[in-house]
Amino acid sequence: MPDENVKKRLAEEVAETAKAALKQLISKGNLPWPDVYSEEFWTVARNKNFSILPEEDEAYKEISIEALQDFAEKAEDLLGNVKDTVEKFLRETKEHVSDMQDSLKDLDKKDEENLFYEDIAKLILKNKTLEHKAQQTEKKIQEQAKTIENLRAKLRIDPLTNLFNRHALESDLRKELAKIKRYNYPLSLIMCDIDHFKEINDTYGHQVGDKILKKLSELWKQEIRETDSIYRYGGEEFLIIAPHTTKKEAINLAERLRNKVKKYKFVIKPPEFFVKLTVSFGVTDVKPGEELEEVLKRVDQALYSAKNSGRDKTVAL
Ligand code: GH3
Ligand code: MG
Ligand code: MG
Repeated sequence: MPDENVKKRLAEEVAETAKAALKQLISKGNLPWPDVYSEEFWTVARNKNFSILPEEDEAYKEISIEALQDFAEKAEDLLGNVKDTVEKFLRETKEHVSDMQDSLKDLDKKDEENLFYEDIAKLILKNKTLEHKAQQTEKKIQEQAKTIENLRAKLRIDPLTNLFNRHALESDLRKELAKIKRYNYPLSLIMCDIDHFKEINDTYGHQVGDKILKKLSELWKQEIRETDSIYRYGGEEFLIIAPHTTKKEAINLAERLRNKVKKYKFVIKPPEFFVKLTVSFGVTDVKPGEELEEVLKRVDQALYSAKNSGRDKTVAL
């Protein structure tokens, strides 16, 4: 941690740089849009040779996934705000330019020699430059929003199985619960856990275990409806959100998934060496007004009960 003096000096440098950067922008007749301002800020900092300039620092290299998720969420909000401002600015600039052009035409008709003619023409040119800049900024912001959207999508995916991850599950389930409160349709959850998976790892190794997790995910993805979503909840545990699905229908779906795995031969050494697996399932439906924690707890209890009563079965609560 830097000591108080260093912190104070850094704060002073930031304040001085910010002031100078703004001054420069204004003197050049530029607006302090975020990217323009940021470029000016670092130019000033570099010219003054300030110590706030970023350095290669070990600490920057270790960015946690949580920090990235947090960043992606905040950045999207921020971009939304900036985008709204830019769009408003662009709209207003366009209106302004068109007003000016109309006035100029009127003026043109009235008095060819009007003294203001040149000034107005200059103003129009300046407005046009502003409009062009605003368009460029909007384009840049849209590109950045896209990058962030891609990053956000990546953060929702479990890299091994390509299924959605637990982070995605929590936010999606909250959204689904809010939707059913409003539109009142059935929603069921299915939680599943591979039986005795540890033995597979112990017998054939972790890599084989990984391959099986991948294959099983593919099998189930083919089996569920497009409106259902499947998440990797933990190591060898999965959760399915099935909207517009009653508990009875969810039990049927769980049984289909269970039988699909039970019949499947997970090939380890082609052509003939394979292993077989079973999976236990817990099913529940969401009761009116229920919170996420309650419903997750009940589906977990259903799964626990399936495990405790012999595995390779579906229990609904
Ligand atoms: P149970 O029937 O009670 O569920 O028995 P289990 O052996 O499946 O359960 P347990 O919780 O004892 O062990 C889970 C195993 O899943 C342990 C761990 O090695 C394995 N596992 C979890 N995540 C992964 C993974 O990403 N890859 C592999 N290969 N194995 C994993
Ligand atoms: Mg488990
Ligand atoms: Mg297990």
